[in-house]
Amino acid sequence: MGRIAWHQYFLAQSHLLALRSTCTRLTVGATIVRDKRIIAGGYNGSIAGGDHCMDEGCYVIDNHCVRTIHAEMNAILQCAKFGVGTENAEIYVTHFPCLQCCKAIIQAGIKTVYYATDYKNHPYAIELFQQAGVVVEKVPFAPENMDPLFNEKAQLLSNAMEDLKKLGLEEEKLKQYEKEYIKLYKG
Ligand SMILES: [Zn+2]
Ligand SMILES: [Zn+2]
Repeated sequence: MGRIAWHQYFLAQSHLLALRSTCTRLTVGATIVRDKRIIAGGYNGSIAGGDHCMDEGCYVIDNHCVRTIHAEMNAILQCAKFGVGTENAEIYVTHFPCLQCCKAIIQAGIKTVYYATDYKNHPYAIELFQQAGVVVEKVPFAPENMDPLFNEKAQLLSNAMEDLKKLGLEEEKLKQYEKEYIKLYKG
């Protein structure tokens, strides 16, 4: 097994952080990196000690959950709290940043944004990043790089589905399994 590539290493950290999210609408993670070192991380959640969306439900205004601080914001604020410079840093996010986070990222002097998944990519955010000279690059997250048995598991499932087909499992159920399989292993 080879060594995990930098992009995937930092992106994996962001995906791990996203698992700590307390908002039920979308789970996002962000990792700020300088000189190949993680200097801060964040996920979208309530203020410290506040009510959590997962307990109290989201607080939705104009189709946005206003209870949470976004992952990128939390990571940047962590740097502010502990006095860590973000100038010329890079940020790895699970999703394309929203307009507010876009502005915060620019203002914090972060120069590169790597994101795994498109999310309502706002044209004004794209424009602002361009104007500010922030490089934005989509780096799809490849979980097979995290799981050394990824290919073996995929193969096992694929074989099992073939057998199910031979055994005459109804078409509808087979299709459902295939869909799940593609989502898990090919998505
Ligand atoms: Zn929420
Ligand atoms: Zn945001």
